[in-house]
Amino acid sequence: MSTPHVLNFGAGPAKIPKSVLQRAQGEMLNFDNSGMSVMELSHRSKTFGKVLSHTKAMIKSLMNVPDNYEILFMQGGATTQFAALFYNLVAAKQQQLGQDEVFVDYVVTGAWSNKAAQEADRLATANPAVKVNRVTHSKQDFGKYGDVAPSSAWQFSDPAKTAYVYYCDNETVHGVEFDHVPEVDPRVPLVADVSSNFMSRPIDVSKFALLYGGAQKNLGPAGVSIVIMRKDLLTDINVGPVRPLMLDFKTMADNDSMYNTPPTFGIYMVGLVLDWLEEQGGLEGIGKVNKTKADKLYEAIDTSPLFACPVAPAYRSRMNVVFTTPNEDLDKAFLTGAEARNMVQLKGHRSMGGIRASIYNSMPEDEVDQLIAYMKEFEQSRA
Ligand code: PLP
Repeated sequence: MSTPHVLNFGAGPAKIPKSVLQRAQGEMLNFDNSGMSVMELSHRSKTFGKVLSHTKAMIKSLMNVPDNYEILFMQGGATTQFAALFYNLVAAKQQQLGQDEVFVDYVVTGAWSNKAAQEADRLATANPAVKVNRVTHSKQDFGKYGDVAPSSAWQFSDPAKTAYVYYCDNETVHGVEFDHVPEVDPRVPLVADVSSNFMSRPIDVSKFALLYGGAQKNLGPAGVSIVIMRKDLLTDINVGPVRPLMLDFKTMADNDSMYNTPPTFGIYMVGLVLDWLEEQGGLEGIGKVNKTKADKLYEAIDTSPLFACPVAPAYRSRMNVVFTTPNEDLDKAFLTGAEARNMVQLKGHRSMGGIRASIYNSMPEDEVDQLIAYMKEFEQSRA
């Protein structure tokens, strides 16, 4: 049976380049002449050790990660990091200050940063001296997500007492992305969730204390999360509520991400995706292609009599392009026509409705062109 050709606009788990899947298929039954699949190798074996160090080295070279940063592979998805970073960075700050009262500052610009702030609220009930502060909350500022107040208007906490400032670089549900790193007091560690724009353009890692993301949008299959953090934040912490060891960054770093069985297949797949990314010209190369793809899609929306994008131009995501027609029936008709053309997973997030085209690294420009051609055809059919 021949494989149907689909154009996969899914937000995640997302498309993986065909050539990467073919390479994995070719190695599936006999990885590195071991006579086994990579999934069957002991994580303590030399062969898997090479896989882990390769993936780590690729992250380091593609993102230009400075030597004073650690790269960790963790599990539990990006959602688990909402808790891990709170546990670790809050306790580190409490220990550093020798006092309990600390602040955590959240920049809330969409569904994911909102969820992260809500998790901090929950965890702070067990550590009541911690104050969770929303420095800005777009939904309150604008009545909806889709724009961001200027950082000069953000209400930061006392920098000397702040464990971290948190933001989400790309809000996958609402299609809101920062095109710059927000300015924060240099004394305060800056933390970013980059799950849905990981390695989609050059980024200056040295501006961050900690960056993290799940792999399943730009980097491979679900199951592995990557944390890149400054090594000086990896301290032995003896204060605050006890942390599960699996969420303890120092334990993870001391064991080279192998305190327990790591997600071996995911780490291997990320390595293959990064080999592919290097062939695309690394972050510079892919960043240009991503910009071209997003620019044309937004232009098609902005010049259309039918489609509209609810996101302010300065914050439009190059990864998740959200748009609508004038009503739900037309949205549905558009999505049905898309399916008939093998353009799949274009439906907006269940909380949003409308249409969302996720055009991650693996989405070729010509498939974005095909989507635009269909949009024009749909427009004409309704004129
Ligand atoms: N953060 C962002 C920006 C996301 O897009 C997602 C998932 O889509 C998450 C966090 C949660 O990731 P996970 O499902 O891996 O926990």
